[in-house]
Amino acid sequence: MSENKDPHVAHTSETTAATEEVKFVYDFTEGNKDLKDLLGGKGANLAEMTNLGLPVPPGFTITTEACKTYLDSGEEPAALRDEVSAHLDALEKKMGKKLGQADDPLLVSVRSGAKFSMPGMMDTVLNIGLSDKSVTGLAKQSGDDRFAWDSYRRLIQMFGKTVLGVDGDLFEDALEAAKKAKKVAVDTDLEAGDLKKLVTKFKKIVKTEAGRDFPQDPREQMDLAIRSVFESWNTDRAKLYRRQERIPHDLGTAVNVCSMVFGNLGPDSGTGVAFTRDPASGHQGVYGDYLQNAQGEDVVAGIRNTVPLADLEQIDKKSYDQLMQIMETLETHYKDLCDIEFTIERGQLWMLQTRVGKRTAGAAFRIATQLVDQGLIDEAEALQRVNGAQLAQLMFPRFDADSKVQQLGRGIAASPGAAVGKAVFDSYTAIKWSRSGEKVILIRRETNPDDLDGMIAAEGILTSRGGKTSHAAVVARGMGKTCVCGAEELEVDTKRRRLTAPGGIVVEEGDVVSIDGSTGKVYLGEVPVVPSPVVEYFEGRMHAGADDADELVAAVHRIMAYADRVRRLRVRANADNAEDALRARRFGAQGIGLCRTEHMFLGERREMVERLILADADDEREDALKELLPLQKQDFVELFEAMDGLPVTVRLLDPPLHEFLPDITELSVRVALAESRKDSNENDLRLLQAVHRLHEQNPMLGLRGVRLGLVIPGLFTMQVRAIAEAAAERKNAKGDPRAEIMIPLVGTVQELEIVREEAEQVIAEVIESTGVELKLALGTMIELPRAALTADQIAEAAEFFSFGTNDLTQTVWGFSRDDVEASFFTAYLEKGIFGVSPFETIDKDGVGKLVKDAVKAGRATRPDLKLGVCGEHGGDPESVHFFHEVGLDYVSCSPFRIPVARLEAGRAASHSVGSDHR
Ligand code: ADP
Ligand code: MG
Ligand code: MG
Repeated sequence: MSENKDPHVAHTSETTAATEEVKFVYDFTEGNKDLKDLLGGKGANLAEMTNLGLPVPPGFTITTEACKTYLDSGEEPAALRDEVSAHLDALEKKMGKKLGQADDPLLVSVRSGAKFSMPGMMDTVLNIGLSDKSVTGLAKQSGDDRFAWDSYRRLIQMFGKTVLGVDGDLFEDALEAAKKAKKVAVDTDLEAGDLKKLVTKFKKIVKTEAGRDFPQDPREQMDLAIRSVFESWNTDRAKLYRRQERIPHDLGTAVNVCSMVFGNLGPDSGTGVAFTRDPASGHQGVYGDYLQNAQGEDVVAGIRNTVPLADLEQIDKKSYDQLMQIMETLETHYKDLCDIEFTIERGQLWMLQTRVGKRTAGAAFRIATQLVDQGLIDEAEALQRVNGAQLAQLMFPRFDADSKVQQLGRGIAASPGAAVGKAVFDSYTAIKWSRSGEKVILIRRETNPDDLDGMIAAEGILTSRGGKTSHAAVVARGMGKTCVCGAEELEVDTKRRRLTAPGGIVVEEGDVVSIDGSTGKVYLGEVPVVPSPVVEYFEGRMHAGADDADELVAAVHRIMAYADRVRRLRVRANADNAEDALRARRFGAQGIGLCRTEHMFLGERREMVERLILADADDEREDALKELLPLQKQDFVELFEAMDGLPVTVRLLDPPLHEFLPDITELSVRVALAESRKDSNENDLRLLQAVHRLHEQNPMLGLRGVRLGLVIPGLFTMQVRAIAEAAAERKNAKGDPRAEIMIPLVGTVQELEIVREEAEQVIAEVIESTGVELKLALGTMIELPRAALTADQIAEAAEFFSFGTNDLTQTVWGFSRDDVEASFFTAYLEKGIFGVSPFETIDKDGVGKLVKDAVKAGRATRPDLKLGVCGEHGGDPESVHFFHEVGLDYVSCSPFRIPVARLEAGRAASHSVGSDHR
């Protein structure tokens, strides 16, 4: 589950609260879970557990502020050393022994821990304080030679690798060699003597590789490890991850110094991980793994077989019972699913970490409602525990979990969905095969702009390289196409047109593969796809209250009902026909925010449009328009019927006219061929002329929208007439049509005034001729910077604004979306110029600022101005929150995104009252 990573809330007052004397070190007893900015997630939660009275080994946390100072200046803050000494002193007193003390050493771990847990940060170093001297002290104290030498070799290994930068494989190989020499399979079979030899070997490795001896001074070990943690904030991996996840680069990491407890002291010791509920279903129970006689990451590293946590009851009932008790305490306290790390040292249980646990999208909904039922949280809080991205994930069709499938490998889940098709390895084949009706999956090492057409033709895209911001991922998300990228274990050979999976399975061109863009999994063969139960529910084919309704559907239903109750934003659909409108209605749409009329000019009607464009004389044009009128009208009648009682915003024709004409090359060839045969077709010749005449260098900025309406007489009035007559007809049929007429691409109020005047006249005529009273609102899109900047004037002539944020983004940035997404967005995302494409999430500072100002200016002129948004941003979670904040009345999005918008509108509205959970 993604945490709240909004960069705008990253710095809260707590980091700046310390006034004169900055405090760089906090004892575990001093912090709490709300100090994540300062103490990092791990440190804040260790403190919280300490305060709850849970058995946490004592220790202290060095703040992110200290890290920031180090990163800024290249040196630890002056006061840090003394503060660390003071806290170490206190720790030593508490434990009754000194760090690295020869006869009985205090040992500590040094652990990184930023506000958000992330890859690339320094791995924890355990057993700091051991040296050639203190290892014997530890052996004596514990009465266990083997344990002492095992701990020491682990320290040299971890320290060598993470602090001194020695290749970790060298240690692993030496360990393997030692096991081989002894003919044993697992590390626990090595005896004290073997480990002692290994320590000598490890020290040699350090000396050769790092060019220095392994430090024998315990304090030096600790200080070097702390500095390494600071430095790990800026590893390439960490930086990349932060860019991808939009975590600010200036947070810094905290460092935790924690006294050691030992899970490797024999069979009555061990280490484990657990969840307080099942992170997949949300059910309460015992979920986790345990490994006897092991330390640290052993339990998740797969070095020996772990046992299910439930088995701990047999192994150590006392610790088990205590752990169950603690898990309940944590759940009640955090009011959420927690994951934990623990260690048992000779029958004594120690808690080493906890945090609110990650979970699947389905579990997020189920857990939220379960917690409401348990009385732990209220509905407002439940709403904050889920999000639109999770809901969207639940709405994709998925592969049938019960089907027998062979997994080929796994990559990054880059764009959700389930796609099945024949493997093709180049764009050309993808296009060729898809034209002949085949479904294909385009498989590439990575994609580039040349692959665009192939990507469009494919059902899904699979690449072996690149991450979430790679070309394939960005473009696929833009197209809403399933994509798995960076499946590095799959070897893609585009020359030989084949893919080789681990284990040697080969997929040749034409073999069927299935890819799951929600999990990143890649399968061989056709995996059956099952519809999402959540969509079945929204479609009304499954009822949440039915006895057999599944838990997930019931949970979604409850949370949606709550979101609907609290949200202020209304949610409309972008829909062009009755079928989409009906579906949108089932999904909860409260009207249509954008009905595009362009498709109503395609198909069989194209020929009429051609005549309209080619008309030399007024009467020719009028004839063409007359023919189009009844067809348009019928479209609207159906749409108004489907949306009866709800507003329907119809946008008059927008795209450039040449889009309705034949392709220039095709037509040129046809004309040339005909001429060579001396039977040139008059109409084709005229068409060709028109195509040339209308050809534009940059159609996006050319003759379209209101400009068309002003240049082609009768076009807009025909559309207005069709709308008015359709509304009259619906009224006569006792319907309740609520049409709104929207003028696209307006840049100045004068354009709007002219169209408005003509439209009003037509509407008056229709009222007159039908005798039906009609009230049709007239408004405009705000999709050009000039329109936004002169919103006060435009509002004089507009009863509503609908922000067309797709075009507004294009025109504010000077981006032609189709061109820039494919060509350089990857580079921009990788360089961190923006964290997410401004076409996915609204650019608040630029485009958003225009929207905000236009809202204010428009309402100043016309207080009851109705305001909405109809760009794709209307269905994007983060953007919905923004539109809520700037005070729009509604968002409009594709039918499929409606539930997401409803949910996020609810979250936005209740956020101010709900608590900030994470
Ligand atoms: P990560 O951030 O990767 O989870 P941790 O700091 O939690 O890293 O530590 C890695 C492993 O070492 C975990 O299994 C943790 O429980 C264990 N560990 C950390 N500190 C101690 C300690 N003081 N005593 C025993 N085990 C520890
Ligand atoms: Mg951990
Ligand atoms: Mg537009």
